[in-house]
Amino acid sequence: MKSILFFGVLIGYIFCQETFVGDQVLEITPRNEEQVKNLRQLETEAHFQIDFWRPLTTAGEKVHVRIPFSRLQAVKIFLESHGIPYSIMIEDVQVLLDKENEEMRFHQRRERSGTFNFGTYHTLEEIFQEMDNLAEQYPDLVSQLQIGYSFEKRPMNVLKFSTGGNKSAIWLDAGIHAREWVTQATALWTANQIASDYGKDPSITALLDTMDIFLLPVTNPDGYVFSYTKNRMWRKTRSTVSGSLCVGVDPNRNWDAGFGGPGASSNPCSDSYHGPSANSEVEVKSIVDFIKNHGEIKAFITLHSYSQLLMYPYGYKCTSSDDFSELNKVAEIAAESVASLYGTKYKVGPICSVIYQASGGSIDWSYDYGIKYSFAFELRDTGHYGFLLPANQILPTAEETWKGLQKIMEHVRDHPY
Ligand SMILES: [Zn+2]
Repeated sequence: MKSILFFGVLIGYIFCQETFVGDQVLEITPRNEEQVKNLRQLETEAHFQIDFWRPLTTAGEKVHVRIPFSRLQAVKIFLESHGIPYSIMIEDVQVLLDKENEEMRFHQRRERSGTFNFGTYHTLEEIFQEMDNLAEQYPDLVSQLQIGYSFEKRPMNVLKFSTGGNKSAIWLDAGIHAREWVTQATALWTANQIASDYGKDPSITALLDTMDIFLLPVTNPDGYVFSYTKNRMWRKTRSTVSGSLCVGVDPNRNWDAGFGGPGASSNPCSDSYHGPSANSEVEVKSIVDFIKNHGEIKAFITLHSYSQLLMYPYGYKCTSSDDFSELNKVAEIAAESVASLYGTKYKVGPICSVIYQASGGSIDWSYDYGIKYSFAFELRDTGHYGFLLPANQILPTAEETWKGLQKIMEHVRDHPY
């Protein structure tokens, strides 16, 4: 045990990992609009260095924020002076990070001599290696294609599941936000599940006899590597505009930057910065180009964490989409199926009513592009661990998510358009 700990510390030292000793995550619930306004102030004042895990919306809705140890007292005084209720969600962020590191090193050593463990977090190299393995193991079903390069020239590797011929397809991606690690892990487990279930499970067999599936497990590879080696809290891409912590482009908010709808910010320091132009991030552009070139993508599903939500368009406006009732029905059936396994409850609805009016979501783009079945998942949990979901929850999360994904995919298969 001692040597593992030492190894972990050593790795941290070699990579100059940023530490978060004493940082806390607070759960804050503004009681009224006045308090929302106060919190808005906290958000805009850079010196508080607040990292919003769960965004500020309206009165009565929980907000989760990570606060650096050095600012903790000032923020708590601010909250108390305005009478804003809060509780401590994570006592010390670094304690969770140390546990996560230790767990990863432990499994890394065991994996070297054995098989891939889907129930632990992995480096990008390990993920790519496992994607290679899947393609090798199931040559008649699984192949890989590279749809482009990230800003730092890492490959954007997509797994293609196909029984041959020119078929319409389902798109599934994960990890556009780097620190949402359970999404990349869930995507990889799902890849293995699809491959091993074909020919055994009637649902996935019927699906793949009719349609192809494209799966991109790591949409933001630069961000993932950075979150692994330098800063576990990283969520953005690594382009020049997002090179500093302040000036950042959040690719998810950047899909329809040119649209500039309400909710997107022109302030580069804001978390909802809409970017310099539409699809300014090369990672996003690669996906858009791929989907346009393919021409027969019938479903677009994206995995995020956390909050346990299953959403559909719109986010940038609060009017119902033309397919509202159908999408809502499919989402409810999928959410029910998710809950059937371990009782994990999901909230269902359009982005605008489930979160708030926010432009730049990828499913808004895909839906308006003509892909009717556009869905976004926010996986576990609802705020106990947040982005630092322990590895022992990867498998149950992936299993229950697969239940929901299957329901959506079956509906897409049975309702061609
Ligand atoms: Zn996200």
